[in-house]
Amino acid sequence: MPFSNKYHITIVGAGIIGLTTACTLLKEYPFNDNFYLTIISEKFSPDTTGDISAGYWEPYGFESIDKRILRWAGYTYDIFLSEFFSTKTAQAGLMKMSAYTLHGYHDQNKHRNNPKPQFSTLVNHFRMLNKHEIEMFNHLKPTSGFVMSTFAIEVRYYLRELQRYLSEDRRVRFVKKKIHTFRELMHQTDLIINCTGLGAKQLANDQTVRPARGQIIRIHAPWIKSVYNFDTDEGEGYIIPQANSVVLGGTFQMNDWNTEAAESDTKTILRMCAKCLPSLKQVQHGKVQVGLRPYRDDGVRLEHEKTADGINIVH
Ligand SMILES: Cc1cc2nc3c(=O)[nH]c(=O)nc-3n(C[C@H](O)[C@H](O)[C@H](O)COP(=O)(O)OP(=O)(O)OC[C@H]3O[C@@H](n4cnc5c(N)ncnc54)[C@H](O)[C@@H]3O)c2cc1C
Repeated sequence: MPFSNKYHITIVGAGIIGLTTACTLLKEYPFNDNFYLTIISEKFSPDTTGDISAGYWEPYGFESIDKRILRWAGYTYDIFLSEFFSTKTAQAGLMKMSAYTLHGYHDQNKHRNNPKPQFSTLVNHFRMLNKHEIEMFNHLKPTSGFVMSTFAIEVRYYLRELQRYLSEDRRVRFVKKKIHTFRELMHQTDLIINCTGLGAKQLANDQTVRPARGQIIRIHAPWIKSVYNFDTDEGEGYIIPQANSVVLGGTFQMNDWNTEAAESDTKTILRMCAKCLPSLKQVQHGKVQVGLRPYRDDGVRLEHEKTADGINIVH
């Protein structure tokens, strides 16, 4: 779009999706003074879902991943890669490392015939683990596994950097406010981009949006420098190093709105992670956090809607 006339875009939501969408738009139109951007959000970092997350790059939650999601995931991977080799890495809390994924107990049948994930072509250094490497994890009884180079970000640092970058652009304005209906914005903007995550359930009346509750424990374990995703007799676990902590996870509890930490989940997570790396048995303290992932039955909604009132919305 050339934007020969003034064009005003409003992004609702200042989580990782809202802020990265804003940055992508600015990158797309770097010198266009006819384009204005307002970011309206009820909450900002450190109170968004991403602030709690493990910040690990890997498309997940889909048996067969939509091609558009794969393109999006590949784009994100390449951005992280270029940022890693820039001067911004430390402030953005971005780490590049090896990630081991082991399939075993629950998913034996699922991965036996096609153990290579669809995203394998997007990443560097992807390879299936050989017999000898699988044996290293014999205590988990895996049947197959792979290793790749990937990224984990400390999302609260990353969001802080995105917000700083956006505030330096005079075309961008931030407003802290809850929106109850898109109609509130219809006379002040040409286009709305809906990045409200779980908030879309009410705001966009999308009943297929549901919470997938996640509980994690942030610990101090500086000897762990790789990611481990694994399967145990108690469920799936993960160990993800970040810039200043290691995240142990986790839970994925559908339709659970409880944001309080559950002691039973904490114990299960610690037990599962110590099954993968026994050195974690000695961990006594950690910061337990809970967040609600925005989950949508048909996957991410990415479409343009023109409402009966004539409002243009990109979901
Ligand atoms: C424990 C845990 C671990 C996770 N680990 C990972 C991981 O390793 N890798 C990964 O990729 N993902 C992970 N996730 C998922 C990831 O955190 C989320 O998918 C992501 O943060 C969602 O970002 P978002 O911007 O869509 O939503 P949010 O961060 O929820 O942002 C939504 C924004 O919209 C605003 N909003 C909502 N409704 C309204 C309204 N009506 N008016 C105004 N503003 C509104 C909110 O205030 C908020 O600012 C994890 C999640 C959890 C809980």
